[in-house]
Amino acid sequence: MNDSIIKDDNNNEYENVCYICRRSESQVGKMLKMLDNMYICPDCMQRTFDLMNNTAGFAGTSVSPTKDKKKETDAKSDKPEAPNNGNSANGVPPVINLGSGFLNLDNLIMPGFFNSDTGIPKSQRVKKAKPEKKADGENEIPAVLDFKKLPPPHKIKEQLDEYVIGQERAKKIIAVAVYNHYKRVTKDAEGTVEIGKSNMLMIGPTGCGKTYLVQTLARLLNVPLAITDATSLTEAGYIGDDVESVLSKLLKAADNDVDRAETGIVFIDEIDKIAKKRNVTNRDVSGESVQQGLLKLLEGADVEVPVGATSKNAMVPMTTINTKNILFICGGAFPDLEEIIKKRLSKNTLIGFNNDLKDKYDNDPELLAKVNNEDLREFGLIPEFIGRLPVVYTLRGLDAEMLVKIMKEPKNAILKQYHRLLELDEVDLQFDDDALMAIAEKALEKKTGARGLRSIIEDFMLDIMYEIPKDPTIGRVFITKEYIEGKGGPRIELRGQKDN
Ligand code: ADP
Repeated sequence: MNDSIIKDDNNNEYENVCYICRRSESQVGKMLKMLDNMYICPDCMQRTFDLMNNTAGFAGTSVSPTKDKKKETDAKSDKPEAPNNGNSANGVPPVINLGSGFLNLDNLIMPGFFNSDTGIPKSQRVKKAKPEKKADGENEIPAVLDFKKLPPPHKIKEQLDEYVIGQERAKKIIAVAVYNHYKRVTKDAEGTVEIGKSNMLMIGPTGCGKTYLVQTLARLLNVPLAITDATSLTEAGYIGDDVESVLSKLLKAADNDVDRAETGIVFIDEIDKIAKKRNVTNRDVSGESVQQGLLKLLEGADVEVPVGATSKNAMVPMTTINTKNILFICGGAFPDLEEIIKKRLSKNTLIGFNNDLKDKYDNDPELLAKVNNEDLREFGLIPEFIGRLPVVYTLRGLDAEMLVKIMKEPKNAILKQYHRLLELDEVDLQFDDDALMAIAEKALEKKTGARGLRSIIEDFMLDIMYEIPKDPTIGRVFITKEYIEGKGGPRIELRGQKDN
């Protein structure tokens, strides 16, 4: 074989992908470079040769000697007869054909769509693994992987405090768990003692900041984050995404850089929705089997994932991701879990003599925090799954005071954003305290936690944002409780008044 075709394209930061099986160089080894910068892996090349040999033998028995001769010349010139090809009727093998055959590779290269000369879209190409870090600081690896640069738990919490209101215990637990996790990932921690993985299970009502907490964390640590919904996952082969799709998302978030993806965070929301259904006899596609499918990812395994797509098919390149150092955080509202905890706790009480305390847990705000593995199993998580989520913690539902704080205090608080917007029109926007309380009450009625705040505020701010810029004499606007409740208007101060 010609040595020149095994040349590698060293200037390219992406891995070469086999044109036929779509696996990347890191999976299949050195590729053979074909015409038009097209790469074929040794396996596919071998298979193609085998197929050609087999078909040639078969064709020889079925076609006339003249046709056989013609085929020989075609094979030499590499240009078999078109258009009735693609089947063996005229002796042309039904395999990849570089000219105008059954699968015409020239036609697959659509100018404009494929932005690389290898014919694979950029979103489906994997970046080459970086060499080990050099002493002179070249080939920097992400800061978080440098143990010396990893912020200690109290610093992580301090940074979280700037964005996430309340949930003190959860922030503390997450800070310590993340610190330990990344400590374990760094090279310095390699030693005789294998440090366990700190995958987490986060339990809390909707809109209390579960997703927000993880998003903030990933941003602060500068690691890629994939957020996925457990309800969209199904067992392989069913309609929906395979469990591996979460890793495809992570790879995308890491800009197709496998190294970075392997130290990222995956957040699987609505994990309670894949609890084993009780009292069902039919096969449970979305529940228990998805938990089973997730086990190997949580534990740490080499997983083959499609690049640039969420499901495997013949045209999608594949790469391998090791999940050993990926931090998995599962979250869910777990409705009815409180009932299960209450039942367990009351049972204990009943066994004792203090029957009168039976309903003492009814109004216990800390009830959810008393959750244990037994309760989770009762809820429908399988023991192996629970076992792989060693850090379990709960977030509290938000009360009105916390909602007011969420509107006012975080670095990117919604009120600060509106204030800034009107400031650009030189108008000072203020909210009365009781107006904020009224907004919080409205949000509580919606029962969607802090998620409802933005829509409520946007609703009544629309008129303000529309009317105020009309009148250049307006200097200050106070949003009042009456305005929120639809019983009055905002209080307006004109520019002259404001300056006094
Ligand atoms: P869920 O718990 O259902 O995942 P989210 O994290 O998506 O809820 O919260 C929705 C939005 O509410 C977030 O984008 C964030 O702006 C706001 N929010 C929720 N909880 C908090 C909190 N504790 N501190 C600050 N903002 C919050």
